[in-house]
Amino acid sequence: LAYHDGGHDITLDDVFITLKTSKQFHDTRMKVILNTWYQQAQAQTYIITDDEDLDLNFTTNGHAVNSGCGNTHDLSDLSCKTGAEYDLYLRSGKKWWCLFDDDNYVNVPRLVELLGKLDWRKDVYLGRRSISKYLEGRFRGKTVYFVFATTGAGVCFSKPLANKMAPWSKSGKFLETSRALGHSDDCTIGFIITNLLKVNLTLTNVFHSHMEDLTKLDFNTLKNHVVFSYRGQNIINITSNLTNTNVFKRHVDPTRLYSLHCLIYPENQFCKVA
Ligand code: UDP
Ligand code: MN
Repeated sequence: LAYHDGGHDITLDDVFITLKTSKQFHDTRMKVILNTWYQQAQAQTYIITDDEDLDLNFTTNGHAVNSGCGNTHDLSDLSCKTGAEYDLYLRSGKKWWCLFDDDNYVNVPRLVELLGKLDWRKDVYLGRRSISKYLEGRFRGKTVYFVFATTGAGVCFSKPLANKMAPWSKSGKFLETSRALGHSDDCTIGFIITNLLKVNLTLTNVFHSHMEDLTKLDFNTLKNHVVFSYRGQNIINITSNLTNTNVFKRHVDPTRLYSLHCLIYPENQFCKVA
């Protein structure tokens, strides 16, 4: 899996992937991921959760990490986990860090291809912008402005930029920064990078969260996109047709992620049962 696009030799092994989850999702959301895209990036992916789970640890060959953080959707627990993800990435020393939620599907070869087009030696903050205008906040008595990428669509950082985040992110500092700003983890990342470090967000239109209408994604171009998500009825539109038989019925594959996986890897034996 080597790409030599733009002269930046990148392989999957240059990417460190962290996946945020919670014990309550191990048997549901995580199962879908472990059965699909995780298979393509087992060695590169670490799962940051909030409790011990021997079963998850066994199936991931020790890649499940109990962060010791709380299990809620609150700022403090999510930022605690993001801080743990950051510390784990720093120790890897890899060229790229990408973080995802447990309701994301990652098109792994396309992710590597996309990162290969960018220069990991530069400061790169790659993601989908959450809201179009600058967000306003208060930090240490000052009014601050920043843009941020929504973590629900996946976010990636080049190594030099990730290293520069350390004063506000390393060893528990990320949670402190997030609390001081009074905003969630993705806003805090955006604040550190676009305000404190003065580095712009590199926009991508191939990362998708369930904040957009996923039913509108064109079936014929799905394979070219890098990150997908789902939420209730807001799911990608994959229906069976003559050229494509590896599609599972809605009731057996409500997230559509198994069908998507089979669209990308039709040769997979598992897909033949569809
Ligand atoms: N999450 C968590 N505890 C919760 C709810 C969510 O740790 O009580 C994590 C979840 O595993 C996921 C991320 O936070 O990785 C985003 O959660 P979700 O997709 O439910 O909400 P969203 O922020 O996308 O609306
Ligand atoms: Mn979500």
